[in-house]
Amino acid sequence: MTFEELGLNAALLKAITREGYQTPTPIQAQAIGHVLAGRDVLGVAQTGTGKTAAFALPILQRLGQSGNKQKARGRQARVLVLSPTRELTTQIAESFTAYGRHTGLRQAVIYGGVSQNPQVRAVRDGADILVATPGRLMDLVEQGLVKLDGIEVLVLDEADRMFDMGFVRDIRKIVGLLPTKRQTVLFSATMPEDVRRLASSILTDPVRVQVKVQSAAADTVQQSVYFVAKRNKPALLKHVIEQFAMTRTLVFMRTKHGADRLAKHLSKAGIRAEAIHGNKTQNARQRALKNFKSDRPPVLVATDVAARGLDIDEVSHVVNYELPNVPETYVHRIGRTGRAGASGIAVSFCDHDERQHLREIEKLLRKKTPICEDHPEYPAAAPAAAGHAKSRAKARARSTPAAPPQRKPHSTGPADGRQRSRRRKYAKASKPKPAGYTTMW
Ligand code: AMP
Repeated sequence: MTFEELGLNAALLKAITREGYQTPTPIQAQAIGHVLAGRDVLGVAQTGTGKTAAFALPILQRLGQSGNKQKARGRQARVLVLSPTRELTTQIAESFTAYGRHTGLRQAVIYGGVSQNPQVRAVRDGADILVATPGRLMDLVEQGLVKLDGIEVLVLDEADRMFDMGFVRDIRKIVGLLPTKRQTVLFSATMPEDVRRLASSILTDPVRVQVKVQSAAADTVQQSVYFVAKRNKPALLKHVIEQFAMTRTLVFMRTKHGADRLAKHLSKAGIRAEAIHGNKTQNARQRALKNFKSDRPPVLVATDVAARGLDIDEVSHVVNYELPNVPETYVHRIGRTGRAGASGIAVSFCDHDERQHLREIEKLLRKKTPICEDHPEYPAAAPAAAGHAKSRAKARARSTPAAPPQRKPHSTGPADGRQRSRRRKYAKASKPKPAGYTTMW
């Protein structure tokens, strides 16, 4: 399948070539024809699958075809794309700019946390396409600064994340303001019940297109897990960054505070690092992103919301410094590397309290994560209580004969003893494939 065969016109093909795309990704091959034909589309695909082009290319073509480009001031936008975060909004708009460079169509971005004036000006100057977060858009609509009654195509991108972020009421209000005769496209990485309900209330006879996220990540990303005590994670991170050729590394933390602390810790340890999360100013986030995209990127320590939708190619390594408690989030995270068919590496640090999270991730992926044992020397643990000392001695006795001679020495703390017995359990458990195991892509 080629882009030409999908029916895209010369202006778009020229832009696609300039972007270096040779063949459509699976989600593009499935969706472009339907969006071009004016159908409503329900897409299940995560960031990294090429979904932005899957809706942006055919939408640009449809807008251009009607020969009704907006040149005059004060005219209304015809396409509205709703997205959960400022970063994703910026990136979607950049994609429209890149794909639409030979079409003469214009877009405006709308998101909170910055002055509304330039955004309002861009809308008034005659944007054909609005890419917006729901909260700020609703705000501008309520002030009477943006009108939505000329919208012909609505796209909801990352609908599940918009639900997670509490945008559902704004979305419903916004949809209520749009003409009922319109085309609607909804993309979501997962399809929980509330997203399904929203989809059935706003889409008309939709075509469903889907790429299996689990398999996309499982197939292209090399994954491994270190069992490590929480207190040893900083040393292990420094070790893996220094040991492996990590050219562009994204480290995931669960909290903003944790991300800041870890970035500072790395900097103190002589490793260039920056944190990106929702408490940073827009400028700080853009700067961190720019540095990360540069030829000498610092390690980027990110929270899930901040990293969601980052359009960064060539992330060589993803480190799950803390495992997420929602298994799908793990899939999103590791999908940041190995994008658009490239191979990538994801490393997870699992402490004692995170084992249940790991079990759930493995259940979702239907496979065991290989265990990595290349640990550095950890500093000795603080003196433990008598009970712990006893179990530590037991763990030592249990684990010593199992350690192959070439292994680097491990810490002898209680967690590490448990890690070894768990490794043995895993080694056994990973032999037979679970019932119902299928290749999913
Ligand atoms: P998305 O899922 O839309 O965030 O896209 C993920 C990445 O894949 C972006 O960096 C796109 O530039 C890139 N991409 C999209 N479509 C293609 C394609 N057909 N071939 C190669 N790269 C692509």
